[in-house]
Amino acid sequence: MPDRAPQPVDRQLPTDEARDLISLVRDIAQREVAPTAAEEEDAGRFPREFFTLLSESGLLGLPYDPEHGGGDQPYEVYLQVLEELAMARLTVGLGVSVHTLACYALAAFGAKEQQAEHLPAMLGGGLLGAYCLSEPASGSDAASLRTKAVRDGDDWVITGTKAWITHGGVADFCTVMARTGEEGPRGITAFLVPGDAEGLSAAVPEKKMGMRGSPTAQVHFDGVRVPDARRVGEEGQGFAIALSALDGGRLGIAACAIGLAQAALDEALGYATERRQFGKPIADFQGLRFMLADMATQIEAGRALYLAAARLRDAGRPFAKQAAMAKLHCTDTAMRVTTDAVQILGGYGYTADFPAERYMREAKVLQIVEGTNQIQRMVIARHLAGPETR
Ligand SMILES: Cc1cc2nc3c(=O)[nH]c(=O)nc-3n(C[C@H](O)[C@H](O)[C@H](O)COP(=O)(O)OP(=O)(O)OC[C@H]3O[C@@H](n4cnc5c(N)ncnc54)[C@H](O)[C@@H]3O)c2cc1C
Repeated sequence: MPDRAPQPVDRQLPTDEARDLISLVRDIAQREVAPTAAEEEDAGRFPREFFTLLSESGLLGLPYDPEHGGGDQPYEVYLQVLEELAMARLTVGLGVSVHTLACYALAAFGAKEQQAEHLPAMLGGGLLGAYCLSEPASGSDAASLRTKAVRDGDDWVITGTKAWITHGGVADFCTVMARTGEEGPRGITAFLVPGDAEGLSAAVPEKKMGMRGSPTAQVHFDGVRVPDARRVGEEGQGFAIALSALDGGRLGIAACAIGLAQAALDEALGYATERRQFGKPIADFQGLRFMLADMATQIEAGRALYLAAARLRDAGRPFAKQAAMAKLHCTDTAMRVTTDAVQILGGYGYTADFPAERYMREAKVLQIVEGTNQIQRMVIARHLAGPETR
């Protein structure tokens, strides 16, 4: 039987620097992150130390401007870094993606002085971010959010509750969308709020099906006061900023989904070549060979789709439709491939002795976050057929 130890993914990378970067990340991911993933996810332990390590290694600000401590990497490279991290542990890959999302408002819409003051610590100074859009009563319909920011002299006073916040309770800064004006999308403004601001508190983290090491919590704003200098962009521009952030964020989710699916395929392939039934390895049975072939094909197609969208973004061209397609396809692929991996492991796949069941539980959330896959279809359809008639 040939050696079926997982091989590194054969990647198309634009430069030698990018190739070295991916090798470094793969080394950190497989040597430091992967070995403790099962135990820590089971215990629900958030691995803050890995984020500190990634920040020290220059990996928490990869797609941003080097002037403020960013890594100056194109999206096609940054996303493949995420994929390698998610292959080792989804909590870490997704955490980096959410942090990058939280930095976006300031990096793309902040004033020069704001960027100079805050970005270096956010992109490479060990800080970790949270992106606060969802609320208990507004998820898919995010423009109906009710958290309020009221002007008081040179300050804003923020009151309300955000829901489902990744890194809620552990984040050093929060990018918060709050209502400053009329109902609907035009009355929303973005703010950069310190994680230790007076009046800001987090609830006990949600008890989730998977990704238990990644804290997800409600964040309460009880009269949190921030200076106007922490408003990001114009008054009323917050929803446009939030959506613009999500276009890139969805590509991050797509890349994480492909990393997770690849880990599940590697696991299933390794098992199928070892496990014998009817006198031969189960990988010899055509029924399983076809499943493995379909899994690998869906993964390659997903990787190609998210990279095509990333290359559009890198070229400065519109990519929102392709980002929604990549998020939809890659996360559905992760769900299918992880479910098939459990099937290939048979009864053992249903136990916590193997990671396949964890991968399957983790895949589910990717079809929900940063716009459910129903919402992705709505976005794609709007690009195709225009807005729905009322
Ligand atoms: C683990 C986790 C981490 C998260 N992290 C963050 C975070 O860091 N920051 C943040 O702001 N949010 C975060 N979220 C929130 C996430 O973005 C929302 O859960 C998601 O947008 C869906 O909102 P909802 O849960 O309120 O579902 P709802 O909007 O209530 O949707 C319920 C169901 O109805 C469907 N639906 C709704 N409207 C339509 C429609 N028009 N057409 C067809 N179907 C529709 C949805 O697809 C879904 O199946 C996180 C969620 C989870 C589970």
